Amino acid sequence: MRKRILVTGGAGFLGSNLCEKLLSLDHEVICLDNFFTGKKENIVHLMDNPFFELVRHDVTMPYFIEVDEIYNLACPASPIQYQFNAIKTIKTSVMGAINMLGLAKRIKAKILQASTSEVYGDPEVHPQKEEYWGNVNPIGTRSCYDEGKRCAESLFFNYHRQNNVRIKVLRIFNTYGPKMDQNDGRVISNFIIQALKNENISIYGDGSQTRSFCYMDDLLDGMIKFMDSNEELNGPVNMGNPVEFTIKELAELVIKLTGSKSKLIYSPLPEDDPLQRQPDISLARKELNWEPKVPLEEGLVKTIEYFESVIK
Ligand code: NAD
Ligand code: UDP
Repeated sequence: MRKRILVTGGAGFLGSNLCEKLLSLDHEVICLDNFFTGKKENIVHLMDNPFFELVRHDVTMPYFIEVDEIYNLACPASPIQYQFNAIKTIKTSVMGAINMLGLAKRIKAKILQASTSEVYGDPEVHPQKEEYWGNVNPIGTRSCYDEGKRCAESLFFNYHRQNNVRIKVLRIFNTYGPKMDQNDGRVISNFIIQALKNENISIYGDGSQTRSFCYMDDLLDGMIKFMDSNEELNGPVNMGNPVEFTIKELAELVIKLTGSKSKLIYSPLPEDDPLQRQPDISLARKELNWEPKVPLEEGLVKTIEYFESVIK
């Protein structure tokens, strides 16, 4: 059955790919965005579809519409972007959650929150399970994002307990793929752009810190599966690719796949940059029968092709 679905942050990297996927599943999609980090180029090809609508709106302000489901993705995700206006980032996470949960309550919609592995901070437990409460610096430069997302999780569970709002809280680990913004400063886009331009590859720290990278198709399949799952499964649920790489290994792989002449250069690690990160996805495996399928090398090849086509 065709559902009417609101995607906040729908012009961003994950949001625009999600809009496309939901339309391909024959749903009606309303994409809401204030275009802070998102762009029209990501969704312009959907504009001719009569089941797609675009709304310029900021989630810190209330918004009213009748929909069956809400995917709440609005929030800058790259450290450079979310620290650009830290107070606004907190408002987007917290007031955005209040406004979207208020809407969900009023219209009895189901709502999914794009939460993050950053709720675990610089983790002392490895890999990270959903039960782990995290190690977040509440006053550091990353806290606008981390604490904003933690407060949003609290709001989701309190609206569920107090008002029976149907919620799904998804903790997303580093995800990459086509339509990432080439200037947003995240490691995959930075390294690919630098390699394609034969510029130095900027490694922060000594490159021994780790991340686990999930290709966006895998993540979005899991996100939709979670939204469609039984009512009792509220989460939080981790999703990401559990195969862990050091940042130096990533740089070397990008150089190999692009055939680049770039050299690695090292600069200091940013404040509170987590040293290790790997999702424990046993809950998603058990409850949703979900696990990522695309290995890093295959996903990087597709992402490199995308950046080759848009690079300026
Ligand atoms: P993105 O920056 O590409 O997309 C965010 C979108 O939200 C953009 O289109 C932006 O313009 C919009 N937005 C920001 N503030 C807004 C506001 N106040 N009102 C309306 N729209 C607003 O980032 P992304 O990687 O696509 O991330 C999407 C969501 O997933 C974010 O909530 C992010 O925290 C979460 N997430 C992403 C990752 C990842 O690795 N990509 C990991 C963890 C969590
Ligand atoms: N990083 C890097 N060079 C870059 C961008 C990022 O070495 O040009 C490192 C960063 O310090 C972090 C990791 O890569 O350790 C992932 O950074 P990203 O900003 O993509 O996401 P995070 O997981 O830190 O939110």
